[in-house]
Amino acid sequence: MGSACRLGSGGESERLEEARREMIERQLRRRGIHSPQVLDAMRAVPRHEFVPADCRAAAHSDQPLPIGLGQTISQPLMVATMTEALGLIPRDRVLEIGTGSGYQTAVLSLLAGEVYSIEYLPELAEAARQRLARLGFTNIRVREGDGGLGWPEAAPFDAILVAAAAPEPPAPLIDQLAEGGRMVIPAGCGAYQELLRIERRAGRIRRSTLDWCRFVPLRGRYGWEQPFPTEMEDGLAGQSRHRTGGR
Ligand code: SAH
Repeated sequence: MGSACRLGSGGESERLEEARREMIERQLRRRGIHSPQVLDAMRAVPRHEFVPADCRAAAHSDQPLPIGLGQTISQPLMVATMTEALGLIPRDRVLEIGTGSGYQTAVLSLLAGEVYSIEYLPELAEAARQRLARLGFTNIRVREGDGGLGWPEAAPFDAILVAAAAPEPPAPLIDQLAEGGRMVIPAGCGAYQELLRIERRAGRIRRSTLDWCRFVPLRGRYGWEQPFPTEMEDGLAGQSRHRTGGR
């Protein structure tokens, strides 16, 4: 695993608790995440359970971490920024593309009614499904497949979160947004992509740029041919460009 990962030792659970408190305060609240609901959800989800065993001690650090198969768990700030931008309420039905470790899925599930999550890589989908069940999350469905096609049987969705960078927001996902629905998605092909917020209101689609970010490439029909531009494959995907501070 990457150099960010270290083995934990004695007193691990206290240290992880403290690291999570610090993550909330220094990485999120001080950098402009204000929603009490989002901060509470990220305080409640045990992030260390979603990283490989040798990364547990680094689980709350200010960066994405490798989760295997060339994929990453997103930086905490990125998870919080995207979640906050969705403005979830408890009865919302959410679609997530790119389950990865399932960490973002878990955060969403504490803020919404139901979460449908699609992962392209079967091995990650299965691992996330088992992990989320073991941790007691019951309002989540994970399936493997091409998330660019959405989940038509369960549509429309009040919110859609895409955790991989697409050339453009896939048309099926825009179609599956409910009236009043919000989507966040990284789009573009450079070293950094635009983090877009898309909203369907009165039948019209409004699009705005929230930030710049780095994500792994979206695969499948609406994604990229492999290989993706090389600078995206350096293990830094899943983070905000505004990576100030540090630990
Ligand atoms: N939010 C996740 C990180 C996701 S990384 C976490 O916190 O762990 C992006 C994920 O998107 C990867 O697991 C990748 O396999 C997946 N992915 C890429 N293209 C996809 C597609 N077309 N459909 C579904 N998942 C896709």
